[in-house]
Amino acid sequence: MTVNDAQFEYDLFVIGAGSGGVRAARIAAGHGAKVAVAEEFRIGGTCVIRGCVPKKLLVYAAQFSDDLAHAGDYGWTIAGATFDWPTLRDAVARDVDRINLAYTSTLNTNQVAQYLDRAEVTGPNSVRMKSTGQTVTAKTILVATGAWPIMPEFDGTEHCITSNEVFGLPTLPRRVVVAGAGYIALEFAGIFNALGSAVTVVNRSDAILRSYDIDLRDRLLTLTRARGIAYRFHATLDRVEKCADGSLLVHLGDGGEPVPADVVLVAAGRRANTAGLGLEQAGIALGHRGEVPVDGDGRTACPSIYAVGDVTDRVQLTPVAIREGHAFADAQYAGKKTAVSYDAIPSAVFSQPPLAAVGLTEAEARRQFAAIKVFTSDFRPMKNIFSQRVERGFYKLVVDGETDRVLGIHMIGPDAPEILQAAAIAVKAGLTKADFDATVALHPSMAEELVLMR
Ligand code: FAD
Repeated sequence: MTVNDAQFEYDLFVIGAGSGGVRAARIAAGHGAKVAVAEEFRIGGTCVIRGCVPKKLLVYAAQFSDDLAHAGDYGWTIAGATFDWPTLRDAVARDVDRINLAYTSTLNTNQVAQYLDRAEVTGPNSVRMKSTGQTVTAKTILVATGAWPIMPEFDGTEHCITSNEVFGLPTLPRRVVVAGAGYIALEFAGIFNALGSAVTVVNRSDAILRSYDIDLRDRLLTLTRARGIAYRFHATLDRVEKCADGSLLVHLGDGGEPVPADVVLVAAGRRANTAGLGLEQAGIALGHRGEVPVDGDGRTACPSIYAVGDVTDRVQLTPVAIREGHAFADAQYAGKKTAVSYDAIPSAVFSQPPLAAVGLTEAEARRQFAAIKVFTSDFRPMKNIFSQRVERGFYKLVVDGETDRVLGIHMIGPDAPEILQAAAIAVKAGLTKADFDATVALHPSMAEELVLMR
């Protein structure tokens, strides 16, 4: 418990009420600190307002398309099934409103003051509200402003959208061009493809999902092509032209045919949200990607300013931002130091089908270990057995040949993210392949493949 320094209005001022900021604010307040938070858009941040949560709801909607298509194999007759985008969009928006309220009420319950405004740093202990001009002082400032979609420079960017706008589209686009091949790009490519849009993914190189194991990437490419997603590799967006009928024509740098589209979704990565934040006023120099450089405790070059989450550009995932925010608050206001571990962080791509992974890829393990063993399972998920669908699942275990420790698990197939979360515990705990072998299979399941690889 800290005592508010009389010279400052707050013990802690958090800029950004997203995953990291809200967690830090409420935990710090719970430890007795006097806390305020500023939010320029909506309380909850990217994850709950225009990221993970609304995206996952769209993924669920997309999965109905598969289930409906194959329901007949199981004896169901589903006549006249149609899809209505506004119904889905509005249901998602209502849920976002609900979570936004829940986050706001959590802050209220913990007596965290809220400034619904843009805050900019004016010194080591002060911030200024953009619309009111009010200056607020605090003993400590936590920067938790997240990241922002990158829009590369080309003619016609004004006709394109990013993931920020995708949830509010007035109608389901008939044709979508997705620029980029990271997880956000491929998730939306899968969503629109499943909902009935014609999707073309455009990417600078021919590598998708760079940080994932090559076998998963290859499998996803094959399966999504089979589902009808077109890929234009080694191509950049040159120009997006608005036609007289309101549709778009996407000209690519590969010299090939332009692609007609109704929506162009640019998902070319996310950059730390620090533009105009004023950190230089407190002597903080930004990194070359615009990120706030911090030490292991989240401390910046200015002793009274800390940063957590995407703005530090370490691992841009919600659970990581939350852990960093929590660890910061515990360390500062309860004297409880917890190091955030960046090892074995599980992650998923909610594509169709989804993939998930934890630990080292085969290539990374080969670089870091003298001898590795690789076990794979290439199987037909039981759910597909009746149908003509040939989509196969693929699991891979990467094992240290010397110690038998499982270094990485890589999975693509139905429910892979749900299965991987539990398996990630084994990797984090340093379990061995012998431990996997000693575990009796849970039959019949897909997850049993994890303990049956010999
Ligand atoms: P944010 O949650 O982005 O919060 C930052 C907040 O600060 C925002 O609300 C912003 O409005 C506010 N802000 C910025 N500047 C100011 C200012 N000057 N004054 C006041 N307020 C300010 N992660 C996962 O783990 N799983 C997923 O499936 C997943 N899917 C995603 C899908 C999409 C489409 C996107 C875009 C992201 C996804 N992410 C996912 C990433 C995840 O959303 C982020 O890692 C997470 O939100 C980071 O939390 P944060 O607290 O650092 O920042």
